[in-house]
Amino acid sequence: MKVTLNPNAKDAATRDALVAEGGFGKYYTDHMVVCEWTEKDGWAEPELKPYGPLSLDPATAVFHYGQEIFEGMKAYRQPDGSISLFRPDANAKRFANSAKRLALPEMPEALFLETVETLVKQDAGWVPNKIGESLYIRPFMIATEVGLGVRPTNKATYILIATPAGAYFDPSKAVSVWISTEYVRAAQGGTGEAKCGGNYAASLVAQKAAAKEGCDQVVWIDAKERKWVEEMGGMNLYFVKGKGADATVITPKLTGTLLPGITRDSILSVAKDLGYKTEEVMLSIDDWRDGVSSGEITEIFACGTAAVVSPVGTAKSNMGTWVTGDGQPGVITMQIRNHLLAIQHGTTSDTHGWVRKVC
Ligand SMILES: *Cc1c(COP(=O)(O)O)cnc(C)c1O
Repeated sequence: MKVTLNPNAKDAATRDALVAEGGFGKYYTDHMVVCEWTEKDGWAEPELKPYGPLSLDPATAVFHYGQEIFEGMKAYRQPDGSISLFRPDANAKRFANSAKRLALPEMPEALFLETVETLVKQDAGWVPNKIGESLYIRPFMIATEVGLGVRPTNKATYILIATPAGAYFDPSKAVSVWISTEYVRAAQGGTGEAKCGGNYAASLVAQKAAAKEGCDQVVWIDAKERKWVEEMGGMNLYFVKGKGADATVITPKLTGTLLPGITRDSILSVAKDLGYKTEEVMLSIDDWRDGVSSGEITEIFACGTAAVVSPVGTAKSNMGTWVTGDGQPGVITMQIRNHLLAIQHGTTSDTHGWVRKVC
């Protein structure tokens, strides 16, 4: 890897003050990694360089046809002061799958991991210390061929940036959701399984509609039958049926239109480790309403790398409004959240080999 250090890197005191502010995505670390690809020569040597603006021709493909993919992952401070990543190999694989779907070049897993580890080592001082805080890492790739012709790009740029993420979990607040029957996120054969910016662009109008209904987030249902629950915003969903040791923790099945979340996948294992039954199911809006009114569904939460676990309370739709729980996060929701955070921060044993030490 080529290395060009930032001559204007923040001094430790300034940096620590910015990290201590918490929040998310407000400040970026001193460096970034850039790696160019061309159809002719493949991947060039990546470069670690000062974080800064890009200069691109206005006719660059990504600006016009949205050929872009991204990932989201985190580096966590461990009790001994070292820093670890959580399942970065899974992000590398998903990034390659997203690339394939968007006709972008697949980045080899080893190269992907090298870029992430190099940036985290260089900017290690930006990794916060407290449990629930982390360094959020954003790898992405854009089509950089210049020209307005519509075709798969013959040039691409991979870029890696990182931002400190504070603990923004408010345990007293369950999110409210609007179940959208007007807009869909993904259809069979579409890009729902790929992590691409276009999916998010197309989702914003539904997010606005949810806000208009007084809800925090939108819940997506399937495009074909318009009844099967898929995801919440940019997160996967979980439902708890029953209570105590007999509870079953269920999540919508991956049908090809859901984004296969790494947090979702990890929770299937964590819930089993904690002694719960787990199931991947087809769950309809009717099942949701009936389960809540009969009391069978006791807890609902959404999950993803950024927020880890978010309790879901009120669900609103054209069919009415129904409320799960008392506005407080459920017992099993919190148990799963705390256990996953403990694995990520190294305060409980990592029996699945998920944690990868960087430095
Ligand atoms: C990224 C993402 C998720 C969560 O994936 P994680 O790997 O758990 O962070 C869920 N749904 C959508 C639509 C996403 O983009």
